[in-house]
Amino acid sequence: PPVPVGSVLRAAVRRWGDRTAFVHHDVELSFTELGRRAHAVAAGLAERGVGRGDVVAVHLPNCLQYPAVYYGVLLAGAVFSPTNPLLPPAGLAHQLADTGARALVTWEPVLPVVRAALEGTGVRTVVVTGPQQVPDPQAPVELAGLPGEVSLGDLLLADPADAHRDAALDPVTDLAHLAYTGGTTGVSKGVELPHRAVVTNVLQSACFSSGSVPALDAEGDVTLDQVGSEAEHPTRLGTARLINLTPWFHAMGVIGYLNGQVMAGSTVVVHDRFDPVRYVEDAVRYRVTGIGGAPPVFVALLQVPGIADADLSSVRSFSSGAAPLPVPLIERMRALVPGVVIAEGYGLTEVTMQATGNPSHTSGLRKAGTVGVPLPDTEISIRPLGGGDPLPVGERGEVCIRGPQVMRGYAGRPDATAEAIDADGWFHSGDVGVLDADGFLSIVDRTKDMLLYKGYNVFPRELEELLFALPGVAAAAVVGRPDPEAGELPVAYVVRRGDDAGAALTADSVLAAINDQVTPYKRLRDVVFVDALPVSPAGKVLKRELSARERAGRA
Ligand code: ATP
Repeated sequence: PPVPVGSVLRAAVRRWGDRTAFVHHDVELSFTELGRRAHAVAAGLAERGVGRGDVVAVHLPNCLQYPAVYYGVLLAGAVFSPTNPLLPPAGLAHQLADTGARALVTWEPVLPVVRAALEGTGVRTVVVTGPQQVPDPQAPVELAGLPGEVSLGDLLLADPADAHRDAALDPVTDLAHLAYTGGTTGVSKGVELPHRAVVTNVLQSACFSSGSVPALDAEGDVTLDQVGSEAEHPTRLGTARLINLTPWFHAMGVIGYLNGQVMAGSTVVVHDRFDPVRYVEDAVRYRVTGIGGAPPVFVALLQVPGIADADLSSVRSFSSGAAPLPVPLIERMRALVPGVVIAEGYGLTEVTMQATGNPSHTSGLRKAGTVGVPLPDTEISIRPLGGGDPLPVGERGEVCIRGPQVMRGYAGRPDATAEAIDADGWFHSGDVGVLDADGFLSIVDRTKDMLLYKGYNVFPRELEELLFALPGVAAAAVVGRPDPEAGELPVAYVVRRGDDAGAALTADSVLAAINDQVTPYKRLRDVVFVDALPVSPAGKVLKRELSARERAGRA
């Protein structure tokens, strides 16, 4: 039966108790203490009039307070709406107005931005926690005493026993998240996710990766039963130690690295920003069992000086998602940790987080370069880009997804919702993909990133795969350069590796190496060397920035 998200936390607290759930700057938080704090936050919010259906914006970086605030909002029956803590006032004001948020939880360093953004919004309560370097939520916060401002420490004084307000929710219709898409291709859109969608996707993805089946515990809360041996399931329940640097305001963060890990009884080391050297140090120090993130994370880790000598023998899996993982990069990751399982998955905010994945159990079939098979209870079909009946195996078309994790719709945009979800419940993703005879999905590219050269479709990803395979290339992205005759010319932005092969690369050598391997209309017309590619907070290459540069003719 559908259950609210709070059920995941309650079952985890009972099952995992004093095990460490999160560590940040050496401060540990057990499952028991996480549960206590979450219930106190819920009671504190309720005392201030926040309840069922009220939207609470959470404007925080990754910090030890975040998980308690997240579950606290949901246990109060309210809707979690995360915002990027680096948004400028105008961006924050837009999102607060768009969501109709009634309360906001934030941290001290951005209070001036928050105060500037609040005017004209419906926010009545602002909860403030100290700077993230002080992970103690009880630490005093200097508030200017503006009406409605309260410190998180005060909120945590509420009686946690009195905070089970999610019992009244209907998990099928009540919203848990009002999430925002990554904004990689344009303005972020608000996505409505009911409790059932969130719990289902957490279960689908956790079952898939840990080899377990959902069950209800003695109190009726949802939990997982481990099946199979440790050898079969290297990412089994209660054994994982991970570092998380994916922002919790993003789908992959809040589902994969918060709920999913709480349910699985993992210990998560929290990083609030990506420092590849520190990441490797902590991976060794905490003997992490898995390394995960968007592909640029792996690109950066592979460049850390001395990485080949770091003791990563505890690592059993690499999980990647959010953007294409080039096959040559997979090979470099394999060489780093022999025998490691590489589990690439695919999803979008609109399907809560995940739709497909490569299994991480050792007996499962995985295919490098694909994003795996549909998760349990999930259907994938490939349709012609302009609409129509499903295409046969092996043909490229738009990836369409149906399953309980699909969003209810875009907030306040019925037209966009009707365009995205058809009458049969299929969500049209805007990604071009192809299924093989074994049911494995490959993402060819996003329709929005596709180039048109003299009427021919050029998929940048195909060229990027070839670029990644060149010795000396650390990262690459292909975008279109406007051209009066051809429409768009494929142009590569390349980051050199710090080795001799990288130093030896020239535009001519790259053009010669790639253009030999592709049909003429796909040929690269120019190569621009850059120190780094622009990347979104979720770790995706921001091609629109490179395209804008091309349109402005500044390349
Ligand atoms: P916006 O829709 O606002 O431009 P966004 O598309 O980045 O932002 P997200 O929901 O964060 O929003 O990302 C979903 C997209 O990420 C998918 O549509 C797909 O293009 C891409 N993606 C996710 N996983 C993979 C993967 N494994 N391989 C290739 N692309 C992926």
